[in-house]
Amino acid sequence: MLILLCKNSGAAAATQVRSITKRLLATAAADKTTTTTTKSSPAAEHFDIIIGGGGLVGTTLAAALAKNATLADKKVLLLEGAGPFKGFDVNAPYQNRVSAINRNSIELFKSIDAWQHIEAARCKPVKQMQVWESNSDALIQFQHDNFASDVACIIENDLILDAVYARVRDSAPNVKVLNQARIECVGLPGAAGAPHSQVKLQDGRSYTCELLIGADGANSVVRKEMGVDVFSLNYERMGLVATLDLNTEGDCDNSVAWQRFLPSGPIALLPLSDKQSSLVWSTTVPHAKQLLAMEPAQFVDALNEAFCRQYPRVDVVDKALQALNAFFGNSGAQHQRQYPPRVCGVQERSRATFPLGFLHASSYVCNGAALVGDAAHRVHPLAGQGVNLGFGDVRILVDTLATGAYAGFKLGDTQHLIKYERKCLAKNVPIMVGVHGLHTLYSTEFSPVVLMRSLGLQLTQNFPPIKNLFMKSAMG
Ligand SMILES: Cc1cc2nc3c(=O)[nH]c(=O)nc-3n(C[C@H](O)[C@H](O)[C@H](O)COP(=O)(O)OP(=O)(O)OC[C@H]3O[C@@H](n4cnc5c(N)ncnc54)[C@H](O)[C@@H]3O)c2cc1C
Repeated sequence: MLILLCKNSGAAAATQVRSITKRLLATAAADKTTTTTTKSSPAAEHFDIIIGGGGLVGTTLAAALAKNATLADKKVLLLEGAGPFKGFDVNAPYQNRVSAINRNSIELFKSIDAWQHIEAARCKPVKQMQVWESNSDALIQFQHDNFASDVACIIENDLILDAVYARVRDSAPNVKVLNQARIECVGLPGAAGAPHSQVKLQDGRSYTCELLIGADGANSVVRKEMGVDVFSLNYERMGLVATLDLNTEGDCDNSVAWQRFLPSGPIALLPLSDKQSSLVWSTTVPHAKQLLAMEPAQFVDALNEAFCRQYPRVDVVDKALQALNAFFGNSGAQHQRQYPPRVCGVQERSRATFPLGFLHASSYVCNGAALVGDAAHRVHPLAGQGVNLGFGDVRILVDTLATGAYAGFKLGDTQHLIKYERKCLAKNVPIMVGVHGLHTLYSTEFSPVVLMRSLGLQLTQNFPPIKNLFMKSAMG
């Protein structure tokens, strides 16, 4: 019988802890009865590593652990709260959840032999990107020729999951996957004298391990039980996604990603195919609800208007931009601006909304546990960085564990896990601060701020070294 301590804060949490403790005591009493009658109780099954959460990051981690030569003999358990993954049908319509995947993440997929699977199905390289203001003429454009590789690749989330899950299923005999396995409680080494990390599922099953990895998303149970502080913000914005039909003519290959900063938040079109793009429209909660409820034709009109509408202008900003462009010898940003293809339809039932927020755990590790992906950090999707940061965590964690195992460290040893945390913080914090800063900067129509951000955007556009620096860090 496992004795698990559930640490939470606040009155609600205290009630929850009391109720869980009550249930655990009841189970303990029941177990005790069984023990007295049968004189034996089944020990919890033990694993080297348990991954809590089989989303994009958790499943990729399982595949990467299995692929690593030093860790390939470790016994791994992947626990996913949802039912079995139904797979990906390449002939089905495009899905509404897609991600802009950067070069580092693609390298990770290649290293675990998942990339061929994705490429052979469908993914769309982004060759150009245009980001522009609604309160001024400021804009920035990135082309793939500047970087000798694509800006990013747009891939459906379920296709990524299909590719990494296939690696786990077909090439990872040491990884056991359990679906409908929702973690209720976690115990960490040292609590109540427990030598190992412990996991109890809602259905009563229990497991122990050397290292428990929380890949269970922004509401991570593992993180809560680790007792780390969390800095979080609710942006009070929703991200509305949808699959759109485009009115492209001639030989337009639709390989441009478009993003316009509107006063209510950014709206982005990510290319899927020659005739379709994926929408991510971040806006206020009431507006997102309105957009969800609109008739398809009305929704399409609202979308086309969002990309073209003239918003109130500030004279001083326009003049400052003209002066800046004249200094750089440009005849004005308007001359370079392109407009996205017109949207002519929205796929049935493809509209959905997701709450947007910011979250960062003060620590990613403790004795016997570590966090990856959204369990450790969550950002606004405006820069397409969220899951890329998570895949970066996977690369660093697998490397750290392999080096540690080779040097004789225990998998859950904090002394060694801390190296993972340090490297991740150095990688994640600057990007998270930058993305949050952009969100804040573009959430106002206050003239001095509009002036500052417009000049910043236009300076970056006109000064290739800064532009390349930005782009390289976004591309990974
Ligand atoms: C609108 C939108 C657009 C985005 N676009 C991009 C983009 O273009 N590029 C990019 O890099 N990122 C993007 N992101 C961010 C990206 O989607 C997330 O960062 C990513 O999905 C996080 O993956 P994860 O596996 O860490 O967490 P999750 O996707 O939240 O997965 C967690 C998993 O854990 C399981 N789980 C949860 N609790 C338990 C439990 N108690 N027991 C067992 N299992 C549990 C869940 O069922 C789930 O499968 C976007 C996000 C949004 C909202």
